[in-house]
Amino acid sequence: MKLHEYQAKEFFKRFGIPVPEGKVTRSGDEALAAARELKGPPWVVKAQVHAGGRGKGGGVKVAGSIEDVKEAASAILGTPLVTKQTGPDGRKVHQVLVEEGVQIDREFYLAVVIDRAKAMPVVIFSQAGGMEIEEVAVRTPELVLRQFVDPVAGWMSYQARTLAYGLDPLPDSDTLKDIMAVMGKLYRAFVSLDCSLAEINPLVITEQGKVIAVDAKINIDDNALPRQKELRAFDDPKEKDPLDVKAEQYNLNYIRLSGNIGAMVNGAGLAMATMDVIKLAGAEPANFLDVGGGASEEMVTRGLEIILEDENVKAILINIFGGILRCDVLARGVLAAAEKTAIRVPLIVRLEGTNVEEGRKILQESKLKFMVAKDMAEAAAMVTEQVKKSA
Ligand code: ADP
Ligand code: MG
Repeated sequence: MKLHEYQAKEFFKRFGIPVPEGKVTRSGDEALAAARELKGPPWVVKAQVHAGGRGKGGGVKVAGSIEDVKEAASAILGTPLVTKQTGPDGRKVHQVLVEEGVQIDREFYLAVVIDRAKAMPVVIFSQAGGMEIEEVAVRTPELVLRQFVDPVAGWMSYQARTLAYGLDPLPDSDTLKDIMAVMGKLYRAFVSLDCSLAEINPLVITEQGKVIAVDAKINIDDNALPRQKELRAFDDPKEKDPLDVKAEQYNLNYIRLSGNIGAMVNGAGLAMATMDVIKLAGAEPANFLDVGGGASEEMVTRGLEIILEDENVKAILINIFGGILRCDVLARGVLAAAEKTAIRVPLIVRLEGTNVEEGRKILQESKLKFMVAKDMAEAAAMVTEQVKKSA
């Protein structure tokens, strides 16, 4: 789960990380009123979407007057913001953060993430801040400093010194202390909030010598949400694909992809294998959909509905290995979906496992039009052929 910048900054404040004063607003007039209460000029108006790279995409505007704040907010609100991370369609902006503009002297990058290979948190620090860290890592890897954190021992002050003293030129000692303090606080926030990412890009030194987090990004590990009850209220369904929201509601593991073959499968391993055979047959999957081992008839129905709602889907492959999810339950779920929504594309079914005879019988005796594949390879070849025909 991702937080908006303004939400992440609220948490930063709680953990003692300095941020510019600001207010989130939903209209030009609200933005104007907010600017009146904040120090300025300049003010900065920032699109609140779950994507980075807003600055380059025109989602961060500096305003020199209160009227400019209103104008900038009105221009950003309601229009899709396209950045490197949003895809070509962009994200519609529903809220903007109006905040005090700070005079930036230097920009750094600071983040805490989990290093999966080492299975421990890593604090990443770079004096090449304000830019994309991925690019910095490729072009000037020596500028990206890392400290791995033993989760039992926690963040150590020597580690903060190791990172901070890597700066060139070295800031004065008070500023260094402030930077090191932010590192410790960010690490505490990361652990307390069960983050998968806590990032400040840029962390700045102002011309007045203050250390301030100008941007803020927090991603929460979804698996921790049952114990992070407060955080659940920060979820913003507007930021998600409506099909994802629906899938979440019915407990389906669904990920939308860019191809045109909709696949419904039980079990994550089989779903991955199905995507592989589709690719091998020369086509692209439109989604990953694992209805789960213990899927009910309703879940199968909903899963198929979600696939059908995706306009890119030109053919559907149902690949089920009946275990706990019996093939007859699957067949009834498919028929229930077909009754509600016309299945407008070719349907290929491959069933195996528990109650397979009964499942096949239910499908064959129905009015549903579908093709049967004897194995996965054939299923993938058939579905690919159907898509090519329709193209
Ligand atoms: P993004 O990472 O999505 O591009 P940022 O919050 O990092 O968005 O903003 C982009 C750039 O805009 C920053 O690197 C900084 O130079 C400038 N900026 C953002 N907020 C402020 C602020 N409050 N005061 C001054 N400059 C700012
Ligand atoms: Mg940023």
